[in-house]
Amino acid sequence: MNEDFDVIVVGAGTAGIPTAIFAGQRGARVLLIDADNRIGGTMHWSSGQMTAAGTKMQKKHGIVDHPDWHYADCVRISKGEVHPVLARIAIDNAADSFDWLTDNGLVPAKETPVAGWGHEPHRTRRYAWGENGGVSVLEVMQPLLDKEIGRGTVTLSLETKMTRLLTEKGTVVGIEVEARDGTKAEVRGQNVVLASGGYAANAKLWAEMCPKYPLRSYCNPYSRGEGIMAARAIGARVDGGDKFLCSFAGILQNPSDPLSARGGFIFNPYFRRPWEIFVNKAGKRFVREDHPSVDHREHALLEQENVEMFVIFDEGIRQNSPHFNSEIAREHAAKLFGTHPQYFKADSLAELAAKCGINAKNLEATVRDYNAAVEAGVDKQFGRESLPRPIDTGPYLAIRAVGFTVLSPGGLDIDADLRVLDNNRKPIPNLYAAGEVLGKARLSGKTYLSGMSLLPAITFGRLLGQRMLKWQGARQAAE
Ligand SMILES: Cc1cc2nc3c(=O)[nH]c(=O)nc-3n(C[C@H](O)[C@H](O)[C@H](O)COP(=O)(O)OP(=O)(O)OC[C@H]3O[C@@H](n4cnc5c(N)ncnc54)[C@H](O)[C@@H]3O)c2cc1C
Repeated sequence: MNEDFDVIVVGAGTAGIPTAIFAGQRGARVLLIDADNRIGGTMHWSSGQMTAAGTKMQKKHGIVDHPDWHYADCVRISKGEVHPVLARIAIDNAADSFDWLTDNGLVPAKETPVAGWGHEPHRTRRYAWGENGGVSVLEVMQPLLDKEIGRGTVTLSLETKMTRLLTEKGTVVGIEVEARDGTKAEVRGQNVVLASGGYAANAKLWAEMCPKYPLRSYCNPYSRGEGIMAARAIGARVDGGDKFLCSFAGILQNPSDPLSARGGFIFNPYFRRPWEIFVNKAGKRFVREDHPSVDHREHALLEQENVEMFVIFDEGIRQNSPHFNSEIAREHAAKLFGTHPQYFKADSLAELAAKCGINAKNLEATVRDYNAAVEAGVDKQFGRESLPRPIDTGPYLAIRAVGFTVLSPGGLDIDADLRVLDNNRKPIPNLYAAGEVLGKARLSGKTYLSGMSLLPAITFGRLLGQRMLKWQGARQAAE
């Protein structure tokens, strides 16, 4: 790698691959590196759900939509917290990105488009994904990248980690890389694009950026925030870490491993009306369990001690209710009570409370009040509507669940040309960023906006490669 490149892209994931493809199509000499031994990044994990207004897919379904309405939905759902300029860029260019994917073979799942799925619904059906989630997106992009590699425009270097940014008089001139065997080299480039993802796999950086809320994540282990730290080391502005909202709710497979969170519980009343109650460490209910807004339930859980809750029920509910976990079979789940560190079983509520470490007197009172609400058919405390049966048939059961995340909220600030900003909000020459390295909160605020991470990462990568990156020399043919 003893050569100079027009464009260096750090991270061959969701944002980095389109950056390389489009810059390559424009004739740039691109170096695309990844610390992992395969391309794709978080697309191997992601559900791949995307929102875009005015797509060919919507037109096929007779849906009339407009980016202005998409933006209005994002402002409404985020309570005005989306970045007004960057969200507009992501939304105004979303349909072109989505059409690029479908033109190149992405087949939207047959149940799509939908208005909402797991997060707050949009006002119209603009939300879609491929059958294999993020992998469906990668399968579309891979051949396009291979073509550029074949043409010699893109050099792909796997198991190559960026360790720092190289600067001369405040201008970024390249990167230092480390190969798997530990050898280091310096590579020079006219543009450096940080597409190195988030930091939900880095407990230390998480604690620094979001000290109030503990990390429990399910994500790509390479989401270590190395791009953020490298840019910060040369004076880049990093913010948004405090804008964390947990997902509702997962389980820590290993109580002492923050990266062992798993989802799978069907807590959304749209898919399964709850038969259980949710209590906090004090043994008290804290939310209407069947509240139709997932955002409402997520914010309620976020404010509980240790961002944790206990799902309380009994053997009668376990046997009669629809199964509560989409990822494990009913028979398997039954065996977990008493064996899994987060599944508890006891003959009395007091004993259950002791095993869970929650207040026994409060739990008994909470269940008594709840059973009275079931008897009366009215939950005066929270207005819950799903009251199928009381909790009164031992053994009593509990699952400890936590607010968890698949994304990191904070990251690098950029301007409308996707240039990384310093602490004085001035662009750092030759340094660009796209994807989760910007922080999820920049385009979503303190909420979850359906499909506003994966497709914006692709869009920002596409725009960088197509028109925002500039380089000197005859190879910039398409300009
Ligand atoms: C389980 C899960 C479900 C999700 N579902 C959705 C969804 O349905 N819709 C949605 O919009 N979003 C979703 N997301 C989020 C979305 O998928 C990600 O935010 C997005 O894919 C991130 O793209 P990226 O390009 O920023 O990072 P990535 O795709 O993670 O790419 C970053 C790449 O950089 C590499 N890298 C990191 N550090 C270095 C280094 N120092 N040197 C070289 N390479 C490095 C990594 O190995 C990786 O390949 C989900 C995320 C997860 C985990």
